[in-house]
Formats: sequence, structure tokens, C-alpha cells
Amino acid sequence: MKLSKKFLISLVRAIKMTHPDEIGCDECFEKLHDFAEMELANKYPDQAMPLVQDHLNKCGDCREEYEALLEALRELHIL
Ligand SMILES: [Zn+2]
Repeated sequence: MKLSKKFLISLVRAIKMTHPDEIGCDECFEKLHDFAEMELANKYPDQAMPLVQDHLNKCGDCREEYEALLEALRELHIL
């Protein structure tokens, strides 16, 4: 089955509509520290900052960054 270009365009539009306010890597990075601090304090950062969580789910680079940050903060809190 060959998908028409028109169909694909409307599909892409529909997907964009579902995520009208996604954030980019820069914005994610700005909030990453707060997000990690909340995570460590068991304050459900995914509910407070769902857009950051959403970005982390999709972006491997930021997820790696986040995990490294979390690791570093954990060690700081232990010491
Ligand atoms: Zn990213």
C-alpha cells in the first residue's frame, strides 16, 4: 500500500496537534537540575514538569545527561 503525500501531511499535523507544546533540548537542559532534585526528593518531577519528562522519553542525549546528573547528585547527597 502506498500512502499518499496528502495523507502523510495530515498525519504529521495530527501528531503535532497531540503535542502542541513540546520543549527542545535547551529548555530541557535548563530544567534538568530542578527535575533531578525533585526526583531525589521523591517529589514526582514527571507530574510537576511533564514536558521535561516527555522530552527525556524521546531524546537519548538529554536522558544520558539526566542520568549522569542524577548520579552526581546522588553521590553529593550521600557524602
Ligand atoms: Zn534533548
